[in-house]
Amino acid sequence: MKTSELRRRYLEFFRNRGHTVIPSVSLIPDNDPTTLFTSSGMQPLVPYLLGQVHPEGKRLVNIQKSFRAQDIEEVGDNRHTTFFEMLGNWSLGDYFKREQLPWVFEFLTKEVGLDPKRLYVSVFEGQGSIGKDTEAIELWKEIYKTVGMDAKEGEQIFAYPAKKNWWSRSGEPENMPPGEPGGPDSELFFEFPNVQHDPAFGEKCHVNCDCGRFVEIGNSVFMQYKKEADGSLSELSQKNVDFGGGLERLVAATLDESDVFKIDIFQPIVASLESASGKKYGADVESTRCMRIICDHGRASTMLMADGALPSNKAQGYVVRRLIRRAIRFGRLLGLQTGFMTEIARSVLDSYAEAYPVAPEKREAILAAMSQEETKFNNMLGKGLKEIEKIPTLTGALAFKLFETYGFPWEMSEEIARERGQQVDRTEFEAEFKKHQELSRTAGKGMFKGGLADHGEAVVKLHTATHLLHQALRSVLGVHVQQKGSNITGERLRFDFSHSQKVSPDEIKKVEEIVNSQIERDLPISFKLTSYEDAIKEGALAFFGERYPEKVKVYEIGDFSKEICGGPHAEKTSLLGKFAVTREEASSAGVRRIYATLS
Ligand SMILES: [Zn+2]
Ligand SMILES: [Zn+2]
Repeated sequence: MKTSELRRRYLEFFRNRGHTVIPSVSLIPDNDPTTLFTSSGMQPLVPYLLGQVHPEGKRLVNIQKSFRAQDIEEVGDNRHTTFFEMLGNWSLGDYFKREQLPWVFEFLTKEVGLDPKRLYVSVFEGQGSIGKDTEAIELWKEIYKTVGMDAKEGEQIFAYPAKKNWWSRSGEPENMPPGEPGGPDSELFFEFPNVQHDPAFGEKCHVNCDCGRFVEIGNSVFMQYKKEADGSLSELSQKNVDFGGGLERLVAATLDESDVFKIDIFQPIVASLESASGKKYGADVESTRCMRIICDHGRASTMLMADGALPSNKAQGYVVRRLIRRAIRFGRLLGLQTGFMTEIARSVLDSYAEAYPVAPEKREAILAAMSQEETKFNNMLGKGLKEIEKIPTLTGALAFKLFETYGFPWEMSEEIARERGQQVDRTEFEAEFKKHQELSRTAGKGMFKGGLADHGEAVVKLHTATHLLHQALRSVLGVHVQQKGSNITGERLRFDFSHSQKVSPDEIKKVEEIVNSQIERDLPISFKLTSYEDAIKEGALAFFGERYPEKVKVYEIGDFSKEICGGPHAEKTSLLGKFAVTREEASSAGVRRIYATLS
């Protein structure tokens, strides 16, 4: 089946079962300070899964563009990609297990045509006060009976502990804070009998084995419980279903292909890599791995650029740069010359033109940025090579420095050293690398569990404080002040805004006083849903340059601040504590940056 056909059928299947189709949001979350990328279909829906009313109703379905930076190193096997499209359907306090499990099964076996004998499921085996999910087990047995199968536990249905089959934003039940929802899930695996189990992954093969014989294609999460203050779990009054499925993996399954890179969407890229390198995909392990990495990184970087993240040294742009450079380095191993990434970007934009259209000017800008990045990196590699020639012995730490300064990949350092009959210490390089690797930190385990970022209390409070800061800056410096960016860790907030000169110590003092006096007023924080135009008309601040959906949330902090934002926020300002600016500096031309804390 073609990718576009599967997209269409999934949406149609759930539309016929009362679901409203909601659009994919940008890969770069709208004004969400807590995470760099949209990594699942669930992520933009969290406020609604936590109880807010969704304007489109209780049954939703979509296909969400997703990106997971933490999977970069895993790319190269038959199924891992950093960018992917996630099929999602949700019940917000509507249907539950009894509807969800038969529907998913029907979709996979009847609509998509997968052989039910090759379909395996896992359920929660119970832990602590929560027993085994016998409801799901019984349902699965009934479901398999409808296709004439006598599915048994331990053969077709497998129970696993919380580590594998429990979802909450903080992981296993004992880690959930009071008030946090969570619940069991049921994963679906498709078997490729032609893939031989690799004993490197354990003695015996099983559905959760990483050898590639069983591929996870989807997961139904059942938000069923809430953590109480006394540590117990009680049944939620509003129970939700969150389903996530892998579009590319499903398309591959319909072709009886264990290799996702063989689906239609990758074919033009693979073909151009084959003709440019003179090597055949699948002919040898090493060049196949290189081609997969280039396919994935080329597609992911292009899709991220289409959503506004151009290569840079910061945040999302840094990840885009890393993807492009990594792809170029693997291209060199295939003997490819400069320019091939721009060709790949062109092919990706063509393949996705129907599902995610890009305006012609933007298309040109993406291709230009890709080409520039290729030239820049090739020049840097040249410089790095010269540097290396000057160094008598290449240590792991030096190799890392070259990586940091020139983007010089580890593998090339190793190769150079090898030519001289030397060896570089990989553990030393990796230790250095780990120290610097903070960008791809994201919570979430399992491919389709959501991959949510930390919405911890401290982050939420600091984010709420940025609304106060934004308004206070406008009061003190003038209404030309507009938000240009924001980044929050558990310790501090960072806020970028338009202003052409240094903010004086006096002005900073005034800003602090205003923010703290609003905190002391104990203002309530509330939101309403409205159209973007109406929000702007009534004076709500927005992060201009962002793309907003038709309906937006406007957060009001008492009578002091009104801002379009996705949340989440503290309930009232008195919860924030004392606000203090710790640093003020230039960010770029005409943009200042403030760091601040709450204590
Ligand atoms: Zn295996
Ligand atoms: Zn906000």
